[in-house]
Amino acid sequence: MKSNPIVIFWFRRDLRLDDNAALYHALKSGYRVMPVFIFDTDILKQFETPENAQVEFIHQQLQILQKELGHCGSSLKTGHSTPAVFFENLCKEHTIKAVYANEDYELSARERDADIESLLKEKDIDFLSFKDQVIFSKDDIVKDDRTPYTVFTPYSKRWKQHLQPGYLESFDNRDLFCNFYQYKSDIIPSLSDLGFSKKRGISFPPMEFNGDLIRNYTQQRDYPSIEGTSRLGIHLRFGTISIRQLVAKAQAVNETFLNELIWREFYHAITWHFPHICKGQAFKPQYDEIVWRNDETEFKAWSEGKTGYPIVDAGMRQLNDTGFMHNRVRMITASFLIKHLLIDWRWGEAYFANKLLDFDFAANNGGWQWASSSGCDAVPYFRIFNPQLQTEKFDKHLEYIKKWIPDFDPLNYIPPIVNHESARKRALETYSNALKK
Ligand code: FAD
Repeated sequence: MKSNPIVIFWFRRDLRLDDNAALYHALKSGYRVMPVFIFDTDILKQFETPENAQVEFIHQQLQILQKELGHCGSSLKTGHSTPAVFFENLCKEHTIKAVYANEDYELSARERDADIESLLKEKDIDFLSFKDQVIFSKDDIVKDDRTPYTVFTPYSKRWKQHLQPGYLESFDNRDLFCNFYQYKSDIIPSLSDLGFSKKRGISFPPMEFNGDLIRNYTQQRDYPSIEGTSRLGIHLRFGTISIRQLVAKAQAVNETFLNELIWREFYHAITWHFPHICKGQAFKPQYDEIVWRNDETEFKAWSEGKTGYPIVDAGMRQLNDTGFMHNRVRMITASFLIKHLLIDWRWGEAYFANKLLDFDFAANNGGWQWASSSGCDAVPYFRIFNPQLQTEKFDKHLEYIKKWIPDFDPLNYIPPIVNHESARKRALETYSNALKK
């Protein structure tokens, strides 16, 4: 027999109970709320290896949510299937009035949500979605003529003008937790049930806003040997932190840091307005004319941190060992792969996607298209990072390099796989030939 009507709250990129827009609205719906999470087999099958730090992070966060929900007399219902199969089955067991979820702006997520919405509609169930992972989405920040911004500075200016305190108000839902569907604890499948295993050497950064660090962010953020950035990427990716609370703190402490949060929204807006970038295309189509060399041996050397360029190699080793790479070094390693080696930026994008703890499609694609000069507001194609000069500027005492290459000896290091000057000339010729067409 089916229970009384309930509503569903579907966790996705918002793995927290506090200040969660769709959850707040679900809890106020007048019905009991069943929280669910789906290990989406369509997504899981894309992972190349059974070790994936993001899956591990999600898994860990779900255990935390399970405990918190237990305190409310409720439990998290998990599925391990496609969302369509999950909801078909759930509808057989319960009388569902509506499914609540927070918006996700990536093309594949939009398509998934459209499919689920029509599946539910056939059963007379509403699919209600809310803005939660960004302050501004879709057409919130557009030019006067309603077209999207493609340059960061005017976008950020408008973003700041638009920001009123109301946008940062929390969805205070603590008093509503008694409205969760009351039932005994469901079991969350183990990582191995899901076909995954723990990745060695990975630890997740704490979710804390370190006021001192953020105050010094402007002076320190460019030096990879200093722990000078927030390491909140993974928490923003999975919504374990509320962007509203983070922006409110950033606003009060450091504008440079706030600007980075705005870059995140800028790239999300680009993904929304220009979905062709989600299909592997360059933001600027003429850059798809570039004839890449795509040398697999060189790609392997790059990915293993064996290019003979110490700053590039240190970055790749940091990424391989920890799932993190400092932003400055992300720019250097990406530029090296694309311009020094003339390897298609999509190869690097996919490599980072598989390794980064904070992997986020919009920011990763934005970063790679920035480095390849094919993106919106990207580095001009003729600007080619010189790894040696970057090292002199940002790792003068070789502290970062020595941390990730402990036996580093500048006089006896792997010979460079390409010569900087000739690689630079080759890149300039290749780019200018492609762009002439
Ligand atoms: P902080 O410097 O403390 O910044 C705080 C937050 O602001 C970040 O966590 C992130 O959410 C956001 N942010 C900062 N810089 C950027 C930026 N340039 N673009 C978009 N958002 C930004 N960032 C990701 O979150 N996921 C990715 O997959 C990703 N891939 C990248 C790939 C390349 C080639 C490059 C050049 C950059 C990439 N970035 C990505 C942006 C940036 O490197 C990381 O956000 C940052 O290094 C994460 O460390 P942090 O959390 O300490 O950042």
